[in-house]
Amino acid sequence: MPNPHAAMSLHNQTLSQLRDGLKQGSFTPVDIAESCIAAVRQHDESIGAFLSFDAEAILAAARQADISLPLGGLPIAMKDNINVLGQPCTCGSKFLENTYTSPYDAGVSRKLREAGAIFFGRTNMDEFAMGSSTENSALCRTVNPIAPDRIPGGSSGGSAAAVAGHLVPAALGSDTGGSIRQPASHCGIVGLKPSYGRVSRYGVVAFASSLDQIGPMTRSVADAALVLQAIAGHDAQDSTSLPLAAPDFSATLHHGVKGLRLGLPKEYFAEGLDSAVRAAINATVEKLTAEGAEIVEISLPHTSYAVATYYILAPAEASSNLSRFDGIRYGHRANAPADILSLYERSREEGFGPEVKRRIILGTYVLSSGYYDAYYTKAQKVRTLIRRDFDEAFAKVDAILSPVAPTPARLIGSCSNPLEDFMADVCTIPVNLAGLPAISVPLADAALPIGLQIITPHLSEALLLQIAQTVEQLNVWWSSAMIILARKSRKW
Ligand code: GLN
Repeated sequence: MPNPHAAMSLHNQTLSQLRDGLKQGSFTPVDIAESCIAAVRQHDESIGAFLSFDAEAILAAARQADISLPLGGLPIAMKDNINVLGQPCTCGSKFLENTYTSPYDAGVSRKLREAGAIFFGRTNMDEFAMGSSTENSALCRTVNPIAPDRIPGGSSGGSAAAVAGHLVPAALGSDTGGSIRQPASHCGIVGLKPSYGRVSRYGVVAFASSLDQIGPMTRSVADAALVLQAIAGHDAQDSTSLPLAAPDFSATLHHGVKGLRLGLPKEYFAEGLDSAVRAAINATVEKLTAEGAEIVEISLPHTSYAVATYYILAPAEASSNLSRFDGIRYGHRANAPADILSLYERSREEGFGPEVKRRIILGTYVLSSGYYDAYYTKAQKVRTLIRRDFDEAFAKVDAILSPVAPTPARLIGSCSNPLEDFMADVCTIPVNLAGLPAISVPLADAALPIGLQIITPHLSEALLLQIAQTVEQLNVWWSSAMIILARKSRKW
C-alpha cells in the first residue's frame, strides 16, 4: 500500500533506496518527482544549483515511467552542457541563453532515456566548463550547500550542489581537468570520471575533446556504479568511444581491499597541501591498512608539469572547438553588424565571458605558427611523460590514492587571480592527461567536506568502485547529518 507521507522525504534518499522502494511499491515515480520538485522550490533559491527546470515536463515523464527499467522513474539532473532533446543547453553562457534548444539527445542522454531515467533540470556550471568554482557562470551564482559562504567547486558546481543539497539523488557532470571530482570533493558527494572512451561524448558541448568525459555525481558509491552502468558503452556517434561492453560495475562492489596494493604518490602530498586534507586522508589510509590493504609510497615524477601542460592543450582544443560559436550557426547574434567580420567579432565579444576569452586567446596563441612547436608539440610530449608515470606506477600498485583538491572549498569571491583557480586542479588534471578513471569519495574526520581521490588503470572502473565502496564504509556517512546542520544554521 503506497504510503501517502513517503513523498515528503524521498528527495533525501539515494538512487538505490528509491529504486528498491519503487520495486516494493512503497511509492511511485510521481511521488519521487514531487518530493524533488518541492525540495527545489524550497531550497534552490538559496543554493542556485539549477539554471532551468520544467516541473510539468518532469511530472509528465514520471507518470509515464517504466519502473522495470534499470533507472525507471529515477530523477537525474543534467549539467547544462549535455544536450537533451527539446531542453535548453546554455553551458552557463550568455551565448546560448534563450537562443538554443537541443535538437537531439547526447549519447548519454539517449542511454539514460533508454534506462528509464527522468531528466530533472539543468544545472549551473562555469561558462563552457572553464573554471573550478562555478563563479565563472554568466547566468547564476551557486553556493556550497554544506557551507553556503563557500564555492561548490566547479565546473560541475550546480550538479554537485543539487546532489549535496538533497534536491535530486543524482546528476551528470563533465570532467576535463577535475570538474566532476573537485566539486564532489568540495560538496561531500561521490563523483566519478570514467576512463577516456568509456562514456560517449557525442552531444556534450566540447571543451577539450581529448580530455572531456561525462560521469555520475551521487550520494553513494553504489549509486555511481548504477549510473555509470547506464551511460557506459560504445556509441558509434563518438569515434573516441571504445567498442567495449561495460562490465557489471556493481558485482564486485563489496570485495573489499584485502591484499590490494595502494600507492601514495609523494608529489601529491608535498608542501602546500592543507593540513585538514592531509589529516583526513591519513586517517582513512590507516583504516585501509587495517582492512588488509598494503600501502606503498610511489613517485609520479612529472606531476609538477601537469597544470602547465593542461593549460596549453585544453585552451588549444577549446579555441578550435569554440570557433563554431560565430553568431551564425548557434546562439547569440550581434545586432546590425556592418559586415560579416564584425558579425563574428561582435557576437563573440558580446556572447563570451572573460574566462572563455582568456582561454581562446591562450589557445590561439599556442597553436599559431612559430609557437606551435614550442608550446603545443612540447606539451603533447610532456603529456606522454605524465601518462608513462602512471603506467610505471601501476606496475607496482593496483590503485593510487591522493587528495582531490589541495584545500577544502574556499570562500566565494576569494580568488584573487586565475592562476590560483588553475591550481585547484593540480591533483585531478594529471588523470585527464593520462585518460584514467578516478573517483572522489567523501571522508569523515573534517569540518568541511574533503574527498579522497582514487585512481586506477585504464578501464578498471570496477576496481575503482570496489575500493571506493570500502572507503565509503570506513568513513561515517556524514552528508545527511551535515545537511541538517547546515539547514539549521543557515536557514535553508
Ligand atoms: N578547472 C579546469 C579548467 O578550468 C577544469 C575544468 C573541467 O574539468 N571542465 O579548465
